[in-house]
Amino acid sequence: MLSVQDALARILKEIHPGQTESVGLSDAYHRILAEQVVSLEDLPPFDNSSMDGFAVHAADTTGASRTTPKCLPVVGDIPAGSNPAHAIQPGQVMRIMTGAPMPDGADAVVQVEETNASYDPGSRLPEEIEIYLQVEPHTNTRPAGMDIRKGEVLMSPGQTLTPSEVGLLASIGMTSVAVYRKPRVAVFATGDELVPPDQPLGPGKIRESNSYVLTGLICQAGGIPVVLSTSPDRPEEIRQRLEQAFSSQVDLIITSAGVSMGVYDYVRQVVEENGSLDFWKVNMRPGKPMAFGQYRGIPLVGLPGNPVSSYVGFLVFVQPIIQKMSGMLEQPRKIIRAILDQPLHSDGRETYLRGIVTHQPDGPHAHLTGHQGSGNLFSLVQANALLIVPSGVKSLAERSEVNAWLLD
Ligand code: AMP
Ligand code: MG
Repeated sequence: MLSVQDALARILKEIHPGQTESVGLSDAYHRILAEQVVSLEDLPPFDNSSMDGFAVHAADTTGASRTTPKCLPVVGDIPAGSNPAHAIQPGQVMRIMTGAPMPDGADAVVQVEETNASYDPGSRLPEEIEIYLQVEPHTNTRPAGMDIRKGEVLMSPGQTLTPSEVGLLASIGMTSVAVYRKPRVAVFATGDELVPPDQPLGPGKIRESNSYVLTGLICQAGGIPVVLSTSPDRPEEIRQRLEQAFSSQVDLIITSAGVSMGVYDYVRQVVEENGSLDFWKVNMRPGKPMAFGQYRGIPLVGLPGNPVSSYVGFLVFVQPIIQKMSGMLEQPRKIIRAILDQPLHSDGRETYLRGIVTHQPDGPHAHLTGHQGSGNLFSLVQANALLIVPSGVKSLAERSEVNAWLLD
């Protein structure tokens, strides 16, 4: 039997990052960066004040205090966005706002709270002010290039553009950015027993839910779902869906069910007419059976039909595929250690159980949600983590620690 790790490594060897495209900044959120970003400018671009107050020669404030204020003439006003009209001479000050350029000749700012000046909006420029604080050179100033130097490498390919990254691109004057194209992922369910949620249940029928779960997971992983209609267990219908995926030029195909050893499981046969499919006995539970191959050169993952197996199979194998196709750097699982409030049992395969992690004064604790049948989607709804019993371990005692994979 193949370990989960080896199965994943084999799959990822066949997967490569897709093409790139240029997008405007407002379309860049959550996209994956495809270029190195180097600053073409210093940030901030000029020496400026970090406080509302008065630009001074620091030396002129020597000895200033509430009881021994320094009284100095005010020779100008520098609102944010303006340019100082002239330099200040020793013994002079200028009123200055946060973010405004420092005037030549000044080397520090005394914040308004340490003067007798009013800071009500619209206050007239005083002719002179009293300064109550001695300041050192550079106090309350931000030199040009303090945050970022021209030529500095700011971001690298593979990084996710969160709101702060996009803001940084704007602040260095970029209007568009190279990102990876989102992979298009075809998904369809197979099974004669399946009816859509808006249809009445006939005898022996159940409602199809996997395609909805998988569609959401594809979006969450950064892909664009291309949802095809559910196929009955008939080769010509399955073939039609695969051909539709091919002509839609998708980057990945996911099928749900039809890959067990049942006599109506035709997915393998049809895929092999124009591709290849390997059936792996992966040492995990749930998630067997699972299949990986290609249809007309498009990577294809066959997930099991049981709703929980399909979900876990997606998280373990498909999410990393989509992330790699998206150009994302390898994403470590969000795993924390939690104290078990109940014992866990497994058959020795790497087992993923649905659980709830709560934060307690002595650290995270974990317990199971409901019964662990692989058809029980509700137990997944109640869970916020998958508790992992490692391969080769048949039980974990109450009060022992377990790896809990936190779900989004
Ligand atoms: P199979 O993989 O075809 O053996 O299916 C395993 C179990 O999952 C059966 O009980 C199916 O009825 C159920 N199942 C298969 N596909 C779906 C689906 N798309 N939505 C909900 N349940 C499903
Ligand atoms: Mg079936």
